[in-house]
Amino acid sequence: MAQQLNRSTANTMTARYFVPGPTWVRPEILQEMTRPMIGHRSNEFRDLFRRINADLKTLFDTTQTTFIVTASGTGVMQAALENCVARRVLVTTCGAFSERWYNIGESLGYEVDRQDADWGQAIDPDALADHLARHQRAHYDAVTITHNETSTGVTNDVPALIEVIRDEAPDALILVDAVSSLGGIPVEFDKWGADVCLASVQKAIALPPGITVVAVSDKAFERAKKHPYRGTYFDFLNYKKNADENSVPSTPSIPHFYALAAQLDHIIRGEGLEARYERHRRMREITHERTSRFAKLAVDPAHASATVSALNPIVPAATIRAEMKSRGYTLGGGYGQWADTTFRIGHMGDIPIADLEAMLEALAEVTRG
Ligand code: PLP
Repeated sequence: MAQQLNRSTANTMTARYFVPGPTWVRPEILQEMTRPMIGHRSNEFRDLFRRINADLKTLFDTTQTTFIVTASGTGVMQAALENCVARRVLVTTCGAFSERWYNIGESLGYEVDRQDADWGQAIDPDALADHLARHQRAHYDAVTITHNETSTGVTNDVPALIEVIRDEAPDALILVDAVSSLGGIPVEFDKWGADVCLASVQKAIALPPGITVVAVSDKAFERAKKHPYRGTYFDFLNYKKNADENSVPSTPSIPHFYALAAQLDHIIRGEGLEARYERHRRMREITHERTSRFAKLAVDPAHASATVSALNPIVPAATIRAEMKSRGYTLGGGYGQWADTTFRIGHMGDIPIADLEAMLEALAEVTRG
């Protein structure tokens, strides 16, 4: 039954699945995942890796190291901390996923400080500067930033935050979660001066979940060398050594590699990066316009995300989602402390504008009463 439901909603030719991850996957990409296996030490695999990694550098906008980890984003968040932090880390939080850095840091036994913004707000660069100035003696090994907070639909101003960190804590490495931005909102790894940037692929990159793409700065590798106990599976230096030879440390999810190669080709040479970012901005505008009669945007509009909108409806969110489900549309639920009061529309990945508009029309009917 669940299987049947999935087929009728998630894997159709038109997008009817508007959850902020996993997102709707184009049928031709699902097809890529059914190719025959190749050995991960074969020349075919090296060719595949080479193509993927060249495109990843374009997507992250970097000339530094990129690689792929067979794990979801949370695994690589943990890896980033394990490779980059010896003792102390500052976590900036504005929702449930930025908070995850805090929980992981604590579970690893680090001293974790936090700079919080209210749910629905972005991290304020001035407040961050103030925190860092007041904690000069803390000598943070790293500061974490969540580019796009998926639980609220807020996009943080990463360059402004990094500028502040560089001024106030120049030695701190900057770890950026781009899980629900990469592929939908521009990421400029080198220009920003970030040290680690990671993204699971089941959001704006629009692949099935299971792997995470990562960019790591030379500076972060130097820091990792100083940490003798980096573990095995998530050792960034091992990933770099292998990536330099178009390879991976251990057996990867090869079906995902096929799909990633095809999808990056589509993103970069098919749709084109600028057109893709513009489509996402347009999806945000259309979503805001067509829901304003029956729902209030739950966040500061100045930082409203181009990939996900959290909305505060005048009728119960659960009713709206159930009604939409009966029409074949799946919308995202509210998250964490907003679980009961909001619902979320994921407008990211490969969703065609026409499909978003069709869904919003059905949503307007459902809320007309
Ligand atoms: N960070 C953000 C911003 C997310 O939205 C998510 C998942 O939704 C994660 C991290 C965790 O990623 P994963 O579920 O791939 O472990």
